[in-house]
Amino acid sequence: MIHGYWLAKLGIAGRYELVDRTPEAFADFFTQLATNGYVGGNITVPHKEAAYRLVDHRDSIAEAVGAVNTVWYEGSRLMGSNSDPHGFIANLDELAPGWDVPGCRAVVLGAGGAARSAAYALLERGAEVAIANRTVERADALAAHFGAHVRGHGFNALPALRADADLLVNCTPLGMVGKPPLAIDLGPLKASAVVYDVVYVPLETPLLAQARARGNRIVDGLGMLLHQAGFGFQKWFGVLPKVTPELRALVEADIRK
Ligand code: NAP
Repeated sequence: MIHGYWLAKLGIAGRYELVDRTPEAFADFFTQLATNGYVGGNITVPHKEAAYRLVDHRDSIAEAVGAVNTVWYEGSRLMGSNSDPHGFIANLDELAPGWDVPGCRAVVLGAGGAARSAAYALLERGAEVAIANRTVERADALAAHFGAHVRGHGFNALPALRADADLLVNCTPLGMVGKPPLAIDLGPLKASAVVYDVVYVPLETPLLAQARARGNRIVDGLGMLLHQAGFGFQKWFGVLPKVTPELRALVEADIRK
């Protein structure tokens, strides 16, 4: 829906389509994309690690995040990157301009793929990042991967961390339809703090509803999805497409349905 919208708006003859391959069939398909008429693509679960191994070149974003979800060609070389850090930060810049106050302290909940992308993007913008995760060893491993400006914690550190936070980001599936809500009391959070939830179904999670009710600026996860799509589109078609209110409304209506 997203890429179809941009292709139509820009008058580009092309298609973005779903191709389903088993792990056994993936490598053959993936290394023959151009032969099959593709200029590139996105890769999702469970093929991101295979894509990481199979591309001819990974950029620094893919290396830092440890996963490839976007590929394109430069000449005959298949290039790999990860669109999530771009999507994460472009959405934050758009919906909460000025979030990156000097000495910005960000608290990221979760230590999976989304948290890794968020931590990388926040570090690139000079934030101090605290990762709080159910499994503290995974938070510590992520912190060790990124170095001095990232610290790992268990969820029990949240009461202390949130009082100092300029930005609080949920990168766990908690709050998503079918999952329990994220049980966190935002009580001591600064009034100026921004609350960001990468979950986008529902559009306003219980965490965002709580933040909105106490007057904090909020950022939902749909814009991250839209902006990360733009990253791939630019690689394939040479133009960074606009995330317009019209596109957002189209996708929002689909989510509500
Ligand atoms: P993931 O790699 O599987 O990581 C999940 C993380 O959530 C882990 O840190 C896990 O903790 C934690 N977690 C899971 N269930 C939990 C629970 N019941 N209580 C506490 N912590 C729990 O998943 P992911 O790819 O990072 O995705 C996370 C969420 O982000 C998903 O809802 C996904 O849809 C969303 N997302 C959105 C976008 C977007 O464009 N808006 C992009 C990417 C992802 P443990 O380490 O303890 O297991």
